[in-house]
Amino acid sequence: MAPEPPPPPPPSPHVLIFPFPAQGHVNAMLKLTELLLPAGLHITYLITAKDHRSLTTRLSHPGFKFHVIQGLYEGPMDTGDKLSLLLDCLTETTTPLLRNLIIDHPVSCVIADGIMDFALAAAEGTGVPVVFFRTVSACAFWAYFSIQDLINSGELPFEGTNLDERIVNVKGMEGFLRRRDLPSFCRSGLSNRTLQQVSNITRRAPDADAIILNTFDDLEGPIVSQIQKHCPNIYTIGPLHAHLKSRSTSKSISSNSLFEEDKTCIGWLDRQSPKSVLYVSFGSIATLTRDQLLEFWYGLVNSKKRFLWVIREDLVSSNDDKSKVPLELEEGTKERGYLVGWAPQEDVLVHRAVCAFLTHNGWNSTLESIVAGVPMISWPFFADQQINSRFVEAVWKLGLDMKDTCNRATVVRIVNEVMKVRKDEFTGSANQMVKLAMKSVREGGSSYCNLDRLIEDIKTMSIQRKDK
Ligand code: UDP
Repeated sequence: MAPEPPPPPPPSPHVLIFPFPAQGHVNAMLKLTELLLPAGLHITYLITAKDHRSLTTRLSHPGFKFHVIQGLYEGPMDTGDKLSLLLDCLTETTTPLLRNLIIDHPVSCVIADGIMDFALAAAEGTGVPVVFFRTVSACAFWAYFSIQDLINSGELPFEGTNLDERIVNVKGMEGFLRRRDLPSFCRSGLSNRTLQQVSNITRRAPDADAIILNTFDDLEGPIVSQIQKHCPNIYTIGPLHAHLKSRSTSKSISSNSLFEEDKTCIGWLDRQSPKSVLYVSFGSIATLTRDQLLEFWYGLVNSKKRFLWVIREDLVSSNDDKSKVPLELEEGTKERGYLVGWAPQEDVLVHRAVCAFLTHNGWNSTLESIVAGVPMISWPFFADQQINSRFVEAVWKLGLDMKDTCNRATVVRIVNEVMKVRKDEFTGSANQMVKLAMKSVREGGSSYCNLDRLIEDIKTMSIQRKDK
């Protein structure tokens, strides 16, 4: 009798990856995708039509399949309300689409942005595991998770106007957290839609099979331990961009940027002295009023430091008067500054000329600054940025937090503190943190091992779909 033919090899695991359509989220999720690809996983990346249009001009051979979602809100997202609107629109349009994809294809697991909790409903009853990737810091995730505790204990909503009052019901942050450091929407009443939405969504995290966080244990270990009491299976695999560089032998597949980068600023930086430039960027979403723009601008010019500033086309709120810039600012900028609409930020931050980063503390920017060893001046705009900036100053000692103030005198004072008076102190702690960040993504490091564990777990999922 002829021997039985050997069983066919198991199909390569198929992962559906679904980012929330905003620059910071897409950026982090693409990096995760790039980290998973070399393990032989078959990846389908769900993306909105708008992001697809921006990305396909830059991604030549991504090595994975795009599935484009049509018909979503494509307007700006500079307020919590607009983010909520997009989330509502996504929930409605995409839940059935995601479910069909899961049912019609041999999907091993879904990795969805953790703010899209509807992925749980889409996968319900299919046996396909859902892993949430939260692109915020662990400290922001934990603060979001703790909103209900703050309400139960009466710390939310606030009474009175004192934003410096201590908050004691976010476990692990009792010693340093103030009202002003809570996520921005905590300042509104309990009926605030974003507050309710973010709190409810984050409380659903334990329903996912696992959580991926773009952080590393030496940075946020104690906070990750708090989250683990509710979500035991956490993969901390960041900083993703450093992890990617440390693992890949070739250059990353592409720029993940949704905007055209103005690379001329690198030539300008090449002409500056080492550690002499302040890099200024408020990310892809934050907006300034014209008054705020001018206060920052006067502060930068009056500080007499060299500066490279990203002024996005839509940085100033659209209904603000965009009249002419005062002559003294134009002249001061010509002398010591350089303005771009969008910068190759990672390259800028590691440039030898950069001394400090005036940032809104979006989580990607914060991690990029940490990995580049660049001290920060924090001016958080909204959501997670308020708590990130508190950690920058009070916990990691990587810079100064100027949240809730925006006047030229403060800008001059803080720029001077960070770039001159306390420069050695901040550069010293930033250098220490780089070492820990790089250790985590090298072979044997915590993030390195966690990524290997994630890949192995995904492979196991493709063999044994669990019954739910
Ligand atoms: N970024 C960039 N060029 C710029 C400004 C920002 O490439 O001129 C990138 C930055 O490197 C980061 C992302 O845009 O990866 C912004 O993400 P972050 O989480 O910091 O802030 P968000 O834009 O989500 O508020």
